[in-house]
Amino acid sequence: MRIILVGPPGAGKGTQAARLVERYGIPHISTGDMLRAAVKAGTALGKEADAYMKAGDLVPDAVVIGMAVERIGEADAQKGFMLDGFPRTRPQAEALDAALSAAGVQLDAVVLIEVDDSLIVERITGRRTDPETKRIYHLKFDPPPAEVADRLVQRKDDTEEACRARLAKYHGETAPIIPFYEDKGLLKRVDGVGSPDAVTERLVAALGG
Ligand code: ADP
Ligand code: ADP
Repeated sequence: MRIILVGPPGAGKGTQAARLVERYGIPHISTGDMLRAAVKAGTALGKEADAYMKAGDLVPDAVVIGMAVERIGEADAQKGFMLDGFPRTRPQAEALDAALSAAGVQLDAVVLIEVDDSLIVERITGRRTDPETKRIYHLKFDPPPAEVADRLVQRKDDTEEACRARLAKYHGETAPIIPFYEDKGLLKRVDGVGSPDAVTERLVAALGG
């Protein structure tokens, strides 16, 4: 299965991708995770991406497209993948289309997880991640067990200010990919409000089981 998860920051893409990739046996490809790993490792790509990410801006297409297309070409992604956070602009969607056509493969679905803007800031500012297991928690909506609470980290871009910038980028630059996939008959809309389990059920139903 070749699936794309789209949605505003905090929609639950990372949370749901972690669950779905186990169910479908495909790799989870998150450009946000890849970029954060590059920043941490101090690579040239990471150094270029760092300032954009901190400010809540998008990393330039030329940087992200090469990284994502290369990752999709790796052995574990040949039978399928779940893309989370890519594509995020119209040029990225077009570049992905060209790369998949060249490889002779097609997407199965593009799932849009819909969450109203009014809920996003609280979701983002309460997000914490376990650096050991990579599990995503929320201080209020998905509280961590006491034994991991001390080691949780907060992303540098999960401030209210950067969150608002990301939300504006989402509406300005990412939302235009929605009609692109709608025209191809690939788009499925799923309500992202409710418990994480309820959202997983809706996603599985939208993906045909
Ligand atoms: P979120 O969980 O808020 O949706 P991500 O972890 O997917 O965020 O991305 C974090 C940041 O990494 C983005 O704000 C952006 O700076 C950068 N980034 C991730 N994916 C892309 C992409 N496809 N194009 C441009 N920038 C990206
Ligand atoms: P994204 O990858 O789309 O930015 P995440 O999966 O990281 O989103 O979720 C953002 C925050 O919202 C996290 O703290 C997560 O625990 C929480 N969250 C995820 N799904 C839900 C949900 N259905 N209801 C409430 N909070 C949620």
